[in-house]
Amino acid sequence: MSPSLALLVFTDLDGTLLDHGSYRWDAARPALTALARIGAGVVLASSKTAAEMAPLRDRLGLGDWPAIVENGGGVLPPGTGGELPANTHQTVRARLSGLPAGFVGFSDLSVADLAELTGLSTDVAGLAKQRRFTEPGIWTGAEADLPDFLNAAEQAGLGATRGGRFLTLSLGQTKAGRMQEVIDRTRPLHSIALGDAPNDVEMLQAADHGVIVQNPHGPRVPPLPGEATGRIRRTTRPGPAGWNRAVLDLLQELTLIGDPQGDG
Ligand SMILES: [Mg+2]
Repeated sequence: MSPSLALLVFTDLDGTLLDHGSYRWDAARPALTALARIGAGVVLASSKTAAEMAPLRDRLGLGDWPAIVENGGGVLPPGTGGELPANTHQTVRARLSGLPAGFVGFSDLSVADLAELTGLSTDVAGLAKQRRFTEPGIWTGAEADLPDFLNAAEQAGLGATRGGRFLTLSLGQTKAGRMQEVIDRTRPLHSIALGDAPNDVEMLQAADHGVIVQNPHGPRVPPLPGEATGRIRRTTRPGPAGWNRAVLDLLQELTLIGDPQGDG
């Protein structure tokens, strides 16, 4: 990562770089190849643990770049496997133990129970249980008791984010916060962020260029102020196909690659 890094791309995984249903990324290969050719970096950012992220990052050929794991809970450094030492997870668990009952975390469940709850294979559920920073789980108490739990969590210094059916407790770090740390460290000339869901909005707004990748299966990202100025755009195609088009268009607009329709 030299001081003259031209471009750093931050991307969500599920529904963004990875197809919502098949988890494939073939359709994004032309853009990934173009990025590699100009020496641009790609930083994966998702709710996955380091143990889940490391093999995926290798398969994508992105092992030279950091990856943001556990929704910003931590960063997997470049070139490392998924074996990160335990970090803030122990603190989160200790604080959780003092809160009103009703929250059942991934750490409370067996691999088999977690696989059943999430629909993950038992192999992947095992990797998802290797928490280093945050504790996702489900609220099993009465819905009316949840506000008290959330208040107590806040008093204990825990951040709680709800994405889909899981409630994740953390020490408050976010994907956008980690993205800013990586940008401060690597100082790219340009940054692009891509995401498909409301929990990606902060990241999309913090980048020089934001891309909302269409996901017909998930909650829609509300209109963002940057869309009026063109700083944030939406793809017409979902998942990796939309990712590919948006990144190739931006590479051309930023004159980082030539016009593929032209002579050069
Ligand atoms: Mg997503």
